[in-house]
Amino acid sequence: MGPLGQGLGGGVELTLEAVLRGLIQCGHQLSLVAAEGSQLDLPDLQQLWLEPGVSQPSWQHQPRQAPVQIPPEGLLPRFWQRALKVQHRFDAVLNLGYDWLPFWLTACFETPLFHLVSMGSVSDAMDAVIEATAAAFPSRLAFHTATQASDFSLPSEPILVANGFDFSRYSFCAHPQRLLGWVGRIAPEKGLEDAAQAAAALGWPLRIWGLREDEAYAESVEDSVPKGTLEWRGFLPTDQLQAELGHCAALLNTPKWNEAFGNVVVEAMACGVPVVAYRRGGPAELIDEGKTGWLASVDQPQSLMELLPKAFALDRAACRARAEQRFGLEAFASRLESWLQQR
Ligand code: UDP
Repeated sequence: MGPLGQGLGGGVELTLEAVLRGLIQCGHQLSLVAAEGSQLDLPDLQQLWLEPGVSQPSWQHQPRQAPVQIPPEGLLPRFWQRALKVQHRFDAVLNLGYDWLPFWLTACFETPLFHLVSMGSVSDAMDAVIEATAAAFPSRLAFHTATQASDFSLPSEPILVANGFDFSRYSFCAHPQRLLGWVGRIAPEKGLEDAAQAAAALGWPLRIWGLREDEAYAESVEDSVPKGTLEWRGFLPTDQLQAELGHCAALLNTPKWNEAFGNVVVEAMACGVPVVAYRRGGPAELIDEGKTGWLASVDQPQSLMELLPKAFALDRAACRARAEQRFGLEAFASRLESWLQQR
């Protein structure tokens, strides 16, 4: 979409890091094509190409019927021109972008081109190209969760790789403050207004971390609850984010769409913070009820509020341990390896 490190790419940025770190730890050599202006804290790459160009508009913020758009001087064609040119030096090419062009190019590549699909269904044009790619090359697509994959009509059982996290980067916090947390891009599909309602009803402050992608929406959420309920912390790099997040008694996760995975759910658990999320999308697959959190009735802030005291009572060390067991980096890398070795 654009330069890495500012939060524009959402969870894909952390996924990219996990893919690179995980596969490099397994002994593979990796090269990356990314946007000029990216702030990178990445492991040793064989080669890094930073391309100039105009960022892509995000699909989830356009009408479902929107046509495929590539701005003049677009970044996306630059990425794929580079990939086409250097493909013969590699065993595989992996696309992390949720965009039409790379899926459409699958048949044009001689080196196998794989796609880690990062969202559910948000656009007719994207559904069509994802489903056509899956029909022609079923093993080239992988998804994060079964719920995400179920948005698409696929010819066979989807390949699911979940996601992976380097737990050594997340400090465990045993003693939380009287504080709720919410992390994500501040945009309507993330449903911050429901978390704000639940916090206001409980009378606890809600601390918010993330990029204000939609300013008007952020202001409307601020106005929907009593002053002082919301504490805006902005977008922080992972190291700082996890240090602050650990102080929360619970994380609220309230997506309005079929969230593909929900990185922030696992990141909270890694700090020992239990999660109360809607029973919808990826988060419903990530939470082990009674161990790492609870699932609330969808779109009902009242249900979130009622579950919060039950979340405060969970064992925070057991929460982290369970998350580490399911979402460690090594296991993720070995799932990726088995997928990318298929042809
Ligand atoms: N994030 C961050 N700093 C912040 C807030 C969020 O680095 O202050 C990151 C967070 O680590 C996560 C991503 O933003 O990886 C949000 O990803 P998620 O999968 O929850 O949702 P997406 O934005 O992809 O829809």
